[in-house]
Amino acid sequence: MNIARRGVVLDTSCVVCHRLFEDGGHLFFRCKGVKPLWRGLQIENIRLQLMECQGPIHVLECILKLLYEKKMMTFALLWAWWSERNETNHNESRLSTGEFIFLIKRSTDEWLRFFKPSTKSSTTSTPRWTCPPAEIIKINTDGAFLEETRNGGWGALARDSNGSIIFAADGRITHA
Ligand SMILES: [Zn+2]
Repeated sequence: MNIARRGVVLDTSCVVCHRLFEDGGHLFFRCKGVKPLWRGLQIENIRLQLMECQGPIHVLECILKLLYEKKMMTFALLWAWWSERNETNHNESRLSTGEFIFLIKRSTDEWLRFFKPSTKSSTTSTPRWTCPPAEIIKINTDGAFLEETRNGGWGALARDSNGSIIFAADGRITHA
């Protein structure tokens, strides 16, 4: 309150829908802007599952347990939505739900081709040897949670062998 009186604006509302108190749970699972994306991609069940998770680390664990294709699609959605949030922060133009879904599907397809699962067994009678991919994707995740304040945050970053960022996501969790 003192800070506000000094003329510093403390905006803790969601930059997408302007609802108060943005946190990871709201932005990715509850925001009215993101819900149509989960529904449109027919992974509403995943949204409901992740919404029940106890904190961001649990969310990440749940995503990693998803079927390969669903996992990639979920990461693509989170990545696209996070990018949207940052763009909205800078008052840039927003994508429509249809454009979002197109972007997410395209990213999912690209990632599925790029990260071919090594566990997938070949059904051909003469399996041929394939060289390992030149690119290695490194995914770093980190999180912290302070029991006293019940506040925390998490982050995930994927980089390729050139150090280019494939996707990045993070979030903050607060409990009243
Ligand atoms: Zn919102």
